[in-house]
Amino acid sequence: MKIICVGRNYAEHARELNNEVPSEPVIFLKPDTALLPKNHPFFYPDHTADLHHEAEIVLRINRLGKHIDQAFAHKYYDEIGFGIDFTARDVQQNCKTKGLPWEKAKAFDHSAPLSPVFLPLDSLPDPQAIRFSLKKNGAEVQSGNTADMLFGFNALIAHISKFFTLKIGDLIFTGTPSGVGPVSVGDHLEGFVEGKKLLDLKIK
Ligand code: ZN
Repeated sequence: MKIICVGRNYAEHARELNNEVPSEPVIFLKPDTALLPKNHPFFYPDHTADLHHEAEIVLRINRLGKHIDQAFAHKYYDEIGFGIDFTARDVQQNCKTKGLPWEKAKAFDHSAPLSPVFLPLDSLPDPQAIRFSLKKNGAEVQSGNTADMLFGFNALIAHISKFFTLKIGDLIFTGTPSGVGPVSVGDHLEGFVEGKKLLDLKIK
């Protein structure tokens, strides 16, 4: 399986990092080793001094597809989870300055912790406007609503599947709202979707 991530999908977040609001989705990949194995602690990586949380809604693909028409894209997922796209912001800034790829900043081991539980879309109050948030040490640091995405789930699937065949089990991290920020050893992160806690993570 592969993990496809979307950058700058919320205008306010693009602005907070001084990035332009994109005219087509910004896409990057993480390998399957970016997932955090079940019951495995998350350790602050050595290669960064500025690790940032990015709270994101995650789609899990449930059908094989390529060149998926946006009108049919909703048939390719039926549940969502909560994930953190951990980003070594200092490494990313260095890569961006030099025009180099982002993998060292974004795709390292355990950079994509994922909720153990996914929620069926039809169990949500409004699948077009999913509310989610992240708490750090009990205080809310990010909150978003998927209605504010620049490119919605179906537009993302149509775009991504022009380049990459989507397979069952592939994950799409759909982008982070504003409020990204640093984490430190000892921090406690909790991810919520529609008020339900889906992810609980301590930084070791
Ligand atoms: Zn992200």
